[in-house]
Amino acid sequence: PPTALKYNRILLKLSGEALMGQQQYGIDANRLMQYAEEIKIAAETGTQVAVVIGGGNIYRGVQAEAFGLDRVQGDYMGMLATVINSMALQSALEKLDVNTRLLSGLHIQQVCEPYIRRRAMRHLEKGRVVIFGAGIGSPYFTTDSAASLRAIEIEADVVLKGTRVDGIYTADPEKDPTAKRFTDISFDEVMDKKLNVMDMTAFTLCKENNLPIIVFDMNKEGNLQRLLRGDSVGTLVSM
Ligand code: UDP
Repeated sequence: PPTALKYNRILLKLSGEALMGQQQYGIDANRLMQYAEEIKIAAETGTQVAVVIGGGNIYRGVQAEAFGLDRVQGDYMGMLATVINSMALQSALEKLDVNTRLLSGLHIQQVCEPYIRRRAMRHLEKGRVVIFGAGIGSPYFTTDSAASLRAIEIEADVVLKGTRVDGIYTADPEKDPTAKRFTDISFDEVMDKKLNVMDMTAFTLCKENNLPIIVFDMNKEGNLQRLLRGDSVGTLVSM
């Protein structure tokens, strides 16, 4: 029999910005393949994997606002950027023979299925990696909010927020050398200390629905696997 899994179903949130790698814009092919390989290994352990990927490497709604353009229009552009990243990740996974489905919060039927919760759950039960594109399909939200919401909807055990920092620190580790990393922390403590984990909408959704978050460094090879094995990686936020 297969060994007991630490998590039955995960939602992995990847930032769009991280996809740039060393570039200033767009998608770095090496980084993309690295992510795909890590996801493949995760899926092969039997853990059901859903992924939300951001769009910050291509476009963010606030950029439009900075130019005096319509924010809502900008947000839709940002959502489309996440679809581009999602399609790239889907292709990378398929290249590695991983079965995937891309479900979009906006209707773009030539390239994605529409987001339907029951369908997403069915794909996961069948072992397919499910990618959620276009955020939640509404402006004024972020892909972090989409990650939290979709994770709750599909009854994921945890949200794994892959970043370039290896967890939550007492202060910004890039500015303060004395900053210390928490191995675990409560939702309340994050709020009291005004620590930056996710935007407030995303964070509150997790807190109110008792959905744990793990912030970890996705760029360090093997980290995702270690985490799924139950090793202490990054910072766990829970009740
Ligand atoms: N966005 C949105 N609604 C959503 C998800 C995303 O309006 O549900 C837009 C928003 O403009 C955001 C952009 O898409 O800035 C890209 O997503 P995000 O900034 O979360 O990407 P990341 O920072 O993770 O790369």
